[in-house]
Amino acid sequence: MTAMITPVANEARPWLLGDDSEWTLLFAAARDAQLSWAQQTPARRVAILRRLGPILAARMDEICALVVDENGKPEVEAISHEIGACIGCVSHLGSHAVEILAGRRETNTWLPFRLATVTPRAIGAVLIIAPWNMPLVIPFTQAVTALAAGNAVVLKPSEVTPRVGQLVGDLMVEAGLPAGLFTVVQGDGKTGAALVAARPDKVFFTGSVATGRTVMAAAAAHPVPVCLELGGVDAMIVRPDANLEFAVSAATWGALFNGGQVCASVERLLVSRDISDAFTSRLVDRIAQLDPARDLGRITFAGQRRVYDRHLADARARGLTIVCGGAYLSSDKLAPTVIVGEGIEDALVWREESFGPIVALSTFRGDDDAIAKHNASPCGLTASIFSEDAAAADRMATRLDVGSVSINDVAAALYARPELPWGGRGESGFGSSHGREGLLAFTRPHVIDRPTIAGLDFKRPWWFPYDHHQLAAMRELALAMAAGASADRLSRMSKLGRHVLSQLANRPRL
Ligand code: NAD
Repeated sequence: MTAMITPVANEARPWLLGDDSEWTLLFAAARDAQLSWAQQTPARRVAILRRLGPILAARMDEICALVVDENGKPEVEAISHEIGACIGCVSHLGSHAVEILAGRRETNTWLPFRLATVTPRAIGAVLIIAPWNMPLVIPFTQAVTALAAGNAVVLKPSEVTPRVGQLVGDLMVEAGLPAGLFTVVQGDGKTGAALVAARPDKVFFTGSVATGRTVMAAAAAHPVPVCLELGGVDAMIVRPDANLEFAVSAATWGALFNGGQVCASVERLLVSRDISDAFTSRLVDRIAQLDPARDLGRITFAGQRRVYDRHLADARARGLTIVCGGAYLSSDKLAPTVIVGEGIEDALVWREESFGPIVALSTFRGDDDAIAKHNASPCGLTASIFSEDAAAADRMATRLDVGSVSINDVAAALYARPELPWGGRGESGFGSSHGREGLLAFTRPHVIDRPTIAGLDFKRPWWFPYDHHQLAAMRELALAMAAGASADRLSRMSKLGRHVLSQLANRPRL
């Protein structure tokens, strides 16, 4: 195994490399550090994490340069969808984490002498496995959320973007996180697999559907819970009443930002048949106005070219029309490509994620047809609907089988909205990151049930020894609960009370 372990925050333990048992020791050490971190109040933890906002702001240009160099996206995107989204996430946690982690009190009508609290508590040492396409925002936002909840984090960034992964660790050191709480482990898929096998307390995996399946199967052996943020073949639906120019602009950006290497980028365009010719020609015109050197991120991972080549060859073999693009501008840039034609819905480019600057366009007649074609995909990460009819768009949105739907905007941008839960359906995975749900996903509910007042040490009506009064009392209790607010309920409650009193009179002792 080729892995470099990078202990953060002056962790002095001399790790031995190359032996899988070391990963188990790593998680044990992370759990040690986590114990005292979890004992800090959420407000204290959040106060430390809030330092990351100003640190990111102060180092913005240098971080932007690193992200652009290693990942190849345009500077604008490195700031808007990486650094800016990280700052937004820290600020959101700063304002809301304490309230979300506060927990709640629960009472029970039938047990007025008991009061329970339900508190979200940290899980322990969580493993975050990250991809290369958003090398900063994905691991960073997941890590700060995990830490706010009181966990320790072991991060394995993508082997394609290790320097940005290391930067996440460096930022944590700069913010003053306690030693051992955050560790970056560099390595490839084998390292990731070994870390999963070392039994973290939960795995947050972001990557391809195929690797997600492998990770879940490996985690099931222990079992370790998983959250899977996987790929998508996300669609934009353009209804006949859409503002065409606006929808074309949105499709251009949604399909091509970060060179199309976005889990939720627009991979499928479903356009109402009445307007599809006009939409297609305007889309091609709009794409022609782009400057690939300025606007189009480079192919970050050369291996991705194999997917593009397979999808393009399949489209050509099926006689589909490549209305623009279809050829490489350089070794690391594929020209933005739009593919149309009869039978496109059977083509690889429609069914599988290209994860590049390729978009497939098909048509529909009426909302039911659009929804059926949309939901035929086994993936379900995000979708967008473009329409000037707000009510019709809302109705359609409720019927799309995805994690998030955007109306008159591109859904991929929702990842940068820290208040919204992010996650998919079907082969796009399950679980949430971001938002209230994402913070709670890094916790487990912990219940403490206690007496409402001291001294209520009476024998419970359902304890031993059993007798016929008890049987009758439990029967009346069940029937009273079923009776709702009816008069029958009052009569059941009075019978229940009589049976309980008789039972206590017969056997008053504890
Ligand atoms: P990938 O699945 O190849 O790798 C992801 C990570 O998993 C890497 O760190 C890799 O080293 C690690 N890994 C590989 N094999 C492993 C194994 N057996 N056990 C444990 N870890 C292993 O994905 P990628 O090419 O890095 O990223 C692109 C994919 O990620 C696309 O499918 C994209 O849609 C998806 N993605 C999803 C989201 C989301 O939020 N749903 C976000 C970004 C990317």
